[in-house]
Amino acid sequence: MKTAVLIKQVPDSDEVKMDPEKGTMIRDGAGNIVNPLDLNALEAALSLRGEHGGSVTAVSMGPPQADIALREVLALGADEAYLLSDRFFAGADSWGTSLTLAMALGRLGPFDLVLAGGKATDGETGQVGPEVAAIMGLPCSTYVSSLSCDGKYAFVRRTVEDGIETQKIKLPCLITVLNDMNEPAMPTLRGKKKARRAAIGVFGAAELGLAKEDVGLAGSPTRVVRINHPKIARRTEFYRGRELDAGFERVVEVLRELALL
Ligand SMILES: Cc1cc2nc3c(=O)[nH]c(=O)nc-3n(C[C@H](O)[C@H](O)[C@H](O)COP(=O)(O)OP(=O)(O)OC[C@H]3O[C@@H](n4cnc5c(N)ncnc54)[C@H](O)[C@@H]3O)c2cc1C
Repeated sequence: MKTAVLIKQVPDSDEVKMDPEKGTMIRDGAGNIVNPLDLNALEAALSLRGEHGGSVTAVSMGPPQADIALREVLALGADEAYLLSDRFFAGADSWGTSLTLAMALGRLGPFDLVLAGGKATDGETGQVGPEVAAIMGLPCSTYVSSLSCDGKYAFVRRTVEDGIETQKIKLPCLITVLNDMNEPAMPTLRGKKKARRAAIGVFGAAELGLAKEDVGLAGSPTRVVRINHPKIARRTEFYRGRELDAGFERVVEVLRELALL
């Protein structure tokens, strides 16, 4: 079974700061990690390889430093990794990203299964998996929390608003996963050593047969018109010990002011 896993390198959200003037994310200086749900997708792919044999290919679109994320997934057991990196890819929206990923999957495949995270912790649109499926003409299932395959079909359980949905999907297909699917493993020392030496294939727009007008900002129909960074202001008053009675009175006063009493 040949599986591809889409891996996105994201800023470590604890370290990300916002530029209050521009309203944009300050990426410089933020540590980078593999998007957490992509590690669940990788773990699912490794488990299917354990059951059915085959291979696991990791594919990421990003700047040259996304190489670090790919070495991490190689250390965890992926067989091969490819980085899609080109200055023309910069500024891509989810469509530009998905088109680039789909072209690479077409070139590296065919794959029986493509796995992606349900969403990335930075962009958080959850659009890339379904868009890649649409471009490649693959059936797609999202919010998947359990997955098995018999070589012809994938059997999934999806967590939906009012319960659990069970689906049988013909392979090849694309599936996006949730974090309750599995517990991602930790890399071994042997895996880390192997990953350090591994060759990572790098493709730019030309190698993928993409014109520069079709990718990056030029190929992105989304326009960010304005970004608002909500300011949360809390006016906290503390009443301790003997002041508690005054505190209760203050709570009642505030509730009256807000017309809630
Ligand atoms: C006009 C515009 C310009 C932008 N410019 C930039 C920019 O210059 N730099 C920048 O970093 N971001 C930029 N972004 C954000 C960028 O578009 C998104 O980060 C990207 O499209 C992925 O969307 P997402 O993060 O919502 O992914 P989601 O759809 O939430 O991700 C779901 C899953 O898809 C897969 N996936 C997503 N992205 C990738 C990837 N790159 N490689 C491999 N797998 C992936 C992963 O498995 C992930 O778990 C821009 C967005 C817009 C609208």
